[in-house]
Amino acid sequence: MSSEKITRLERFLQWYRDLYGREWYINELPAAFSRQSEKNPLSAGTNPDSPLQKFREQIKDCMNCSLGKTRTHFVFGVGNENADLMFVGEAPGRDEDLQGIPFVGRAGQLLTKLLANINLKRSDVYIANILKCRPPNNRDPLPEEVEKCLPYLHRQIELIRPRLLVALGRVAAQNLLKTETSLSNLRKRLWQYQNIPLIVTYHPAYILRYPNMLNAAIEDMKFIMQHFRQL
Ligand code: URA
Repeated sequence: MSSEKITRLERFLQWYRDLYGREWYINELPAAFSRQSEKNPLSAGTNPDSPLQKFREQIKDCMNCSLGKTRTHFVFGVGNENADLMFVGEAPGRDEDLQGIPFVGRAGQLLTKLLANINLKRSDVYIANILKCRPPNNRDPLPEEVEKCLPYLHRQIELIRPRLLVALGRVAAQNLLKTETSLSNLRKRLWQYQNIPLIVTYHPAYILRYPNMLNAAIEDMKFIMQHFRQL
């Protein structure tokens, strides 16, 4: 094998490990290996003519707030465009900003594992964030940034039409539900967002910081699946 091919393979393996950890999800390999994804991993497995991708094209150069100037990539969303289950996080972090894909860093790897725990792959669900661009040093999103960016998420939700939304963490939950209620009081209940049932759980980064909360997060995932099956 030529050294160029080895370098490309190494780069792919690093990318895959960042995204999925050390486990191999065999069903995902063809899409990840496709020529399209080699050229542009941001569009792997997506249909450029879909209404969702057309919408992405319309907004991907957004400069409506100052984060447009500091981002590396606009992080639109990833996953199944017809997903019945959609996860919403806070904002891209460093890894997500570099790769242009939500939840690809350590928190993302934990999310992938939490999904696997309820027999779901990332490609079964859709994943997006409240903000599409990384706030410097991962600070909390500012109200004016949320105000500018939230309409993009609203439109994504309208186009995907999931049967159930899951808010990952306080920032996602409070901004979607327009509340200041604490995360612990928002968990284990069924809420509504634009007439779509919504469940709140911990942000995976919080679990990484407080590993003793892992069991509670696993319980939340079971709660999500219980309700999801009934919808
Ligand atoms: N945290 C988030 O809220 N979203 C990401 O995409 C990554 C980390």
